[in-house]
Amino acid sequence: MHSTGGTHDRATDPGGPPDDRPSPASGVPDVPLVPVVRVARDARWWPGVVALLLARARETGGRPGGADGALDLRRVQVLVPRILHAPLLRAALHQALPGQACIAPRIETLEQWTGLDPVHGSLQRAELFEALRANAWVRERFGAHAGALWALARDVALLGDELTLAACGAVDAFTGRWRAAVQRHFTQRAAAAGEPQAQLVLALWRAGLQADRGAVRLGERLAQRAAGADGPLVWLVPQGAAPWQLAFCQAYRARSGHPALIVEGDAAALAQQHRLLAAAWPELAGTLADAPPIAERARALQAGPAGAGAAPPIWRCNTLEEEAAAAAAWTLARRAEGCAVVALVALDRLAARRVRALLDRAGVAVADEAGWKLSTTSAAAAVMRWLDLVIADFAHELLLDWLQSPFTLAPGAGAGSAAPAKDALVDYIGAVLVDEQVHGGAAAVRAALARRAQRPPAAGDPRGAATAELARAALALIDTLVDCARHWQQPGSLGRWLGLLDAGFDQLGMRAPLAVDPVGATVLEAAAQLQEQLAGATLRLDLADFRAFLAEHFEELGAGTGAVAAGAVVMTTLAGTRLRRFDAALLIGADAEHLPGRRSAGGLLAGAVRRELGLATDAQREREQLLDLASLLAGTPAVAATWRQRDGDAPRPLSPLLDRLALVAELAGSASPLRDPQAQWHTVAAGQSPQRAPAPGLVPLRLSATAYQDLVDCPYRFFALRVLGLREGARLRPVPDKRDLGKVLHRALYEFHRDQAGAARGAGAYGDANGGAFGGAFGAADGDDDGTEAAALRATIDAVCAPLLRQQPALIAYRQRLRLLVPGFLHWLREDRRKGWRWSDGEAQLERPLALAEGGAVTLFGRVDRIDAGPGGLRILDYKARDAAALRRAQKDPGEAVQLLFYGLLLDPPAIEAAYLSLQPPRDSREPAAGVATMVAAPAPFAHNVTLLGERIAQDLQRVGAGAPLPASGAESVCGRCELRSLCRHGFVAAAPAGARAQDGR
Ligand code: SF4
Repeated sequence: MHSTGGTHDRATDPGGPPDDRPSPASGVPDVPLVPVVRVARDARWWPGVVALLLARARETGGRPGGADGALDLRRVQVLVPRILHAPLLRAALHQALPGQACIAPRIETLEQWTGLDPVHGSLQRAELFEALRANAWVRERFGAHAGALWALARDVALLGDELTLAACGAVDAFTGRWRAAVQRHFTQRAAAAGEPQAQLVLALWRAGLQADRGAVRLGERLAQRAAGADGPLVWLVPQGAAPWQLAFCQAYRARSGHPALIVEGDAAALAQQHRLLAAAWPELAGTLADAPPIAERARALQAGPAGAGAAPPIWRCNTLEEEAAAAAAWTLARRAEGCAVVALVALDRLAARRVRALLDRAGVAVADEAGWKLSTTSAAAAVMRWLDLVIADFAHELLLDWLQSPFTLAPGAGAGSAAPAKDALVDYIGAVLVDEQVHGGAAAVRAALARRAQRPPAAGDPRGAATAELARAALALIDTLVDCARHWQQPGSLGRWLGLLDAGFDQLGMRAPLAVDPVGATVLEAAAQLQEQLAGATLRLDLADFRAFLAEHFEELGAGTGAVAAGAVVMTTLAGTRLRRFDAALLIGADAEHLPGRRSAGGLLAGAVRRELGLATDAQREREQLLDLASLLAGTPAVAATWRQRDGDAPRPLSPLLDRLALVAELAGSASPLRDPQAQWHTVAAGQSPQRAPAPGLVPLRLSATAYQDLVDCPYRFFALRVLGLREGARLRPVPDKRDLGKVLHRALYEFHRDQAGAARGAGAYGDANGGAFGGAFGAADGDDDGTEAAALRATIDAVCAPLLRQQPALIAYRQRLRLLVPGFLHWLREDRRKGWRWSDGEAQLERPLALAEGGAVTLFGRVDRIDAGPGGLRILDYKARDAAALRRAQKDPGEAVQLLFYGLLLDPPAIEAAYLSLQPPRDSREPAAGVATMVAAPAPFAHNVTLLGERIAQDLQRVGAGAPLPASGAESVCGRCELRSLCRHGFVAAAPAGARAQDGR
């Protein structure tokens, strides 16, 4: 055992760690002598601590006891930083006393010893939130955003605890020092600007001192412990004791009459034994400013008796995936070598998560104690999502997200008791909402499902009964959720919100699935603790405030399970490696941003003021990280690091600590520790490209105009969509697009003409398709845009849009666009009537058989927007919300755009003509009817072209049925809007032979 330093007096001997902490005398007015011992923070730590324990025990109370003469240390109280250090201490004791019986000392953490609840601060936060919300300066600076106020309440509470501990009971003197420090470190103007903030924090802190909260309660508990102590106290503080800890030890000694000892880490001793670390980081034993230049340190290292030693390998990666793969491969290699406990130090949490996923996939269990925030877990997200769902009034995405969570709707509980399986219900609800394009709104969601539930099953549908049952269950589920959400929609007290949350776990079927999941159980426990502490809290909050409160709480709690089995891989933080032994350790994400991490000591007090008051500073936190890193390197046989050197195009420098270590090692003659990970290659056989799928015997029995257009545009597209029946998954469009415009346009014009025709029929005028009856019926509107007909068309547009607007408020722009069409459309209609054309039918579902050349037939079918009757026969019209010029271009070649000619095949008696009716808003608002409705006729001669098309369809289908290849040969204009682009490999060619690749250098 090697123990450095031995007992010395921190109050009189300032030879402690060379950091920027004040001496106890500057932080505490009257701190008498306190024994502080330093032990090297490497393999010597636990044996050193045990040696001290045994020495002190022999001096002050540890004695052989019992019949077997066991060494009795039960009266010695040891405080460890984390409870997982207890077995390490016991093991070291066992090793130090081979074959000798020993009754172990009491080993606890500070929280356990004082009996403090780790989440004791919630009530304090709620009180601070209320005080901050009422403060005019806070409202001006932070606004009314609840999240910012809860974060501020947290910062004020933490700072208050720091101040309470730093004041060590001398509150007035400490307040005076604070004011003096603020004045000393700021110019007059800056001091004036910071005055309201300082005054507020000071007032809140002093007010908080009256309450039994936070550090005040800790102080009281410590005093009780000191008064009731029956033996020595040994407090392990590897990162160095704060003044309040030294003061407490003094009080302990004075009140109990028993010795109190603080054991700190000895960085200088560590540096003395590990020369490479000392050369790289001279601040371990002194200060960087006083150290010789790096080249000189490297020369000295090289000239030393043991040479330079090697820096740990650093895997230099370019992407997140590469980094994660390198880390996973390194871990697997260490396990294969027989390393029993491997530590993965999660510096970059994003990369660490990916590593964990890869190791999971490789079947390696990872004990996760990295302190993942509870807020980042799917269990907590399910709870938050419910609140979001209520706040956003059942927004589609949030609703599906919540429904799909494994933590919702457990069978047999509240909303989860619906009979069909949850997956089927969720799929059904999702499909209905997409189908009806419902973006959200509890009423709209319910209305859409109610419509489906009322719809009778299709005749002959074998799944009709099951679908009807699903529809009923889905509606019942949504009713339950809407009913449950109603309780959440009124503001209430914090206590009421927590009660609702607790009840909601049952009503929403969340308690059971959360309870069986380790992280979910933590969520339930956190909610229960909050309710226990705050059940009577009267703080008034709206739902958004409560959501921010809960989010802040989940943000502070860790979700790590912490249990580390032998042989496990443990994911932890750098601080989590403190005083522990691993066989191997990997630093994941060792870039400048993450090592040292830049977590600020708090923005409410300037660093200089914090330093003067004896509070932790950023520099101290960075030094702690350096000490942790040095200890890890010194005490672990195999250490490596991964470094992602760029983030997209932006460079990510290596950690300056590792950079210095690598540089010193290289200057001293060692090889560079930088390594490039080996790429993992997988061989995949190339398929024929592009796709040329034959479809013998698979010709569809029914063919629409769109399907045949697919065959014309690209045979492979036809094959995938019409033969294989592939469909792009339905998606909710975030905003309405041209498809929605087209739907409401068609619907409104159809209903307008249908109603007008019905009215004319009622007046006895309808029925004479070729005569002047329509002229009589519609004549009143001629030349009068604001007349009856225009009003009727506008009313129809509004009536069609009204229910849709409730589902998609953004459709309002399209309603306005349709209204703009009214004058121009009616102008065209009147002109058309003058030529003798009359509306005869709309949205007509038509179909006709077409005989194939070598036998058999295919049914052609389609829905025609409008059929007009005129002096010479029937005319087909197709409404288009597209520019007439584009339609004309598409019609140039009768073989390319087949829609109108295809419709010509459906009508019996045949149409004499067909045309698109392009409907575009007026270009000039002063001429609202000009250029709105333009007809674009099908290629002439119409009848001849229709006949040719029929023959061509028959031949094409015959060839497809005979097995003709269906190549992916779309033109770029078609491919640009084709959903099969990733499937057909159009534009890709098979790889050249290896010899050819070598020639062109690839
Ligand atoms: S992307 Fe182009 S080539 Fe490929 S299937 Fe679609 S239309 Fe055909």
